[in-house]
Amino acid sequence: MSRTPPDALAMLRELIASPSISSTTAEWDQSNLKVIELLHTWLEELGFSCEVMPIPHQPTKANLIATLGTGPGGLVLSGHTDTVPCDPELWRTDPFRVSERDQRLYGLGTCDMKGFLALAIEAAKSFVDQPLQQPLIILATADEESAMSGARALVDAGRPKARAAVIGEPTSLKPINMHKGIMMEAVRIEGRSGHSSDPSLGANALDAMHQVLNELSNFRNELKAKHRNSDFRVDFPTLNFGCIHGGDNPNRICGQCEMEFDLRPLPGMSVDGLRNAIGERLAPLGAQFGVELTTRPLFPGIPPFQNPDNEGLVALAEKLTGHRAQAVAFGTEAPFLQQLGMDTIVMGPGSIDQAHQPDEYLALDQLQPTIDILKQLITRYCL
Ligand SMILES: [Zn+2]
Repeated sequence: MSRTPPDALAMLRELIASPSISSTTAEWDQSNLKVIELLHTWLEELGFSCEVMPIPHQPTKANLIATLGTGPGGLVLSGHTDTVPCDPELWRTDPFRVSERDQRLYGLGTCDMKGFLALAIEAAKSFVDQPLQQPLIILATADEESAMSGARALVDAGRPKARAAVIGEPTSLKPINMHKGIMMEAVRIEGRSGHSSDPSLGANALDAMHQVLNELSNFRNELKAKHRNSDFRVDFPTLNFGCIHGGDNPNRICGQCEMEFDLRPLPGMSVDGLRNAIGERLAPLGAQFGVELTTRPLFPGIPPFQNPDNEGLVALAEKLTGHRAQAVAFGTEAPFLQQLGMDTIVMGPGSIDQAHQPDEYLALDQLQPTIDILKQLITRYCL
């Protein structure tokens, strides 16, 4: 006797009750394997063939690629299995138990984005008894909220492949066809401290950093002059000086200094290209100030994303939802799925305003419309 998975709400309850926080801070970071195991069980019960893909160097993390039907083409419905950390004391109820009030489902990951995974499985249930012409793939990824190592592992493996992909991040069911990239970088300067009364006794790291800030400000102005995209509310690439630490005393030559900044490139700009340009620009300052100057990424970076095809999935999603495709201010796994050759959009239930917040919720009135839209997309791409 084959079993069938529980209904969407019951699935969501189990997913929320399985904590899967990902964080670059080791003490908060958790495994996502329990969530993968639940999805694996339910999807296998529906007849999907499931592959659990380990993440290199991270034994407690995995992606799941679940496929119904065979052959090229088809549709990927993708969600990340991890959540951000939370402060339970700021929540009205237990973040790891779905609680229903005011026509909303509260819990950590309800809108960002375990809810989407439950709804994608619910939508898939209608298709398990009919032969699909092209495959339906439900993809569950690891570590989206930290290093995106799940999405990077998919790119390295060259899988999955399909004609189109929907990433169900909370967009209030509006199709998203572009976002900026995210880079976070550090500049470290090692000088030599000495008595402040004689500058020749050392090499001042703060003096060198002052010039670094000047160079980067100039670079920022040039980027702003060269790159504009009116689809974004902030329509230029931003570079923000986030923090700086260095030195110890006013009467000592500053021996070392480190500064961190964040850069958000527009679609069409390359993360590697920017990194190289910054490196080349700052390199001469080391010799000029007699200091050792190094730059390093604080994480590998998220490329900017734009789906330039206005006729494929973007047009279909606009038609089904009645909303024009738009830009958002957050990064997603979309550039990685796009790199795999898929016509990719971001579109899912719930609002980004509720994500990464205490009392995160998914409004009940988002559930059925999500299932309906996903069923129409599956019909279009897989039947
Ligand atoms: Zn998310």
